Amino acid sequence: MATGLPTEMDSNSPSKPEATGKPSGSRRHVPSSTQGMSTSSVHAGEQRQKPGDSITDPIFCASTFTFQSTADLLEYVEGRSEREEYGRYGNPNEKSVEGKLAALDGAESAIVYSSGMAAIVGLLMAKLNAGDEIVFFDQCYHRSREFCAKHLARFGVVTRQVPTGDFAAMEAAINPATKMLVSESPTNPHLTTVDLEQFAAVGKAHEVETLIDATLATPYNIRPIEYGVDYVLHSATKYMGGHNDLLAGVICGSAEKLESVRSLRGILGGVNSPHNLYLLERGLKTFELRMQRHNENGQRIAEFLEAHPRVARVYYPGLPSHPSHATAVAQMRGFGGLITFEVANADWKETSKIVDAAQLPRIAPSLGGVESLIEQPLVMSYFNYSAAERKVFGIADNMIRYSCGIENSDDLIADLEQALKA
Ligand SMILES: *Cc1c(COP(=O)(O)O)cnc(C)c1O
Repeated sequence: MATGLPTEMDSNSPSKPEATGKPSGSRRHVPSSTQGMSTSSVHAGEQRQKPGDSITDPIFCASTFTFQSTADLLEYVEGRSEREEYGRYGNPNEKSVEGKLAALDGAESAIVYSSGMAAIVGLLMAKLNAGDEIVFFDQCYHRSREFCAKHLARFGVVTRQVPTGDFAAMEAAINPATKMLVSESPTNPHLTTVDLEQFAAVGKAHEVETLIDATLATPYNIRPIEYGVDYVLHSATKYMGGHNDLLAGVICGSAEKLESVRSLRGILGGVNSPHNLYLLERGLKTFELRMQRHNENGQRIAEFLEAHPRVARVYYPGLPSHPSHATAVAQMRGFGGLITFEVANADWKETSKIVDAAQLPRIAPSLGGVESLIEQPLVMSYFNYSAAERKVFGIADNMIRYSCGIENSDDLIADLEQALKA
């Protein structure tokens, strides 16, 4: 008895894949320019047909990759085939993740690192030489500042800090030795948004490359490359991974500009394990959904805090009271899940009582994961700084940083309501 497809279909059956020696469908998905963010984060960078016919990427636990023969090796070293060679230079899991990250930022290329700090160090070490200078806006992640001011200095690179958003001061600090302008947007922890159009324009006018650390914004809320910024950096530990379960970093930009950065990464060695890359790939699939909730929670909680009598001041780009609100509204789709606020008439001890009274957020550094986090910068990141230094960096004793997770905002607000009674 005949079963299966009618025989007349045989003539229409797809032709056999060409004998390339590669499995069919090994081409990686490259999104079209009109493709939505979730479509990109689900499919970009992945092969349609994967080893074992698995729908998800297998975790390639391989430190090295084998060649069938000397002829096979020659084909690779002579640039006639694309494949993996050794784990420090690349891995199939890394290809998938880099394809997604580039697509999300609208970039030609992305390089993934073992942490956000490894990414910033990797880029600056690749681009700067002794005698070069960089200019950066002063509100920034404290370890980035420390790397530039303390460590780049050891290699003869001069760093100049200017007040965040002060473009006149930035231009005044630029001289023929200046090679890079660096800023975060929004900044951590003051959530100041920098006008990216102006930032990129200053770079172009002086022929200096520009770098934006957009960790707090993510490509859901802003895509700096569309404004002409050369390099975008994210600590993927935060929203991109999104589950408080991994560390990673990424630099996005043009393939040409990133070529030297990629080859230095192969030497510095700040790469991810295949397991870590798989976690990041999985986290990225729900990126847009999570960001929508983070933005919603951030806005609602910021508005709740601003209206509360125990709160003296709230830093959140989505509030009209934030000095850079107009820039944020003009350039951002949403304002993220990070909120910094100051408790009214409270010293550091009274402030810490509120941190301790909160039941839902966990006390920890970091941000951007599904679990809400709370911390007092004085006791957390800035404990080893003097009172005078904290004053310079704008870290007040009564400051609390709240990173909204994806919990339901009614529950987070009810919890904050009771905590603010402490
Ligand atoms: C966390 C963070 C970093 C550092 O990233 P890691 O992944 O922790 O190394 C850099 N910049 C900003 C804005 C951050 O929040």
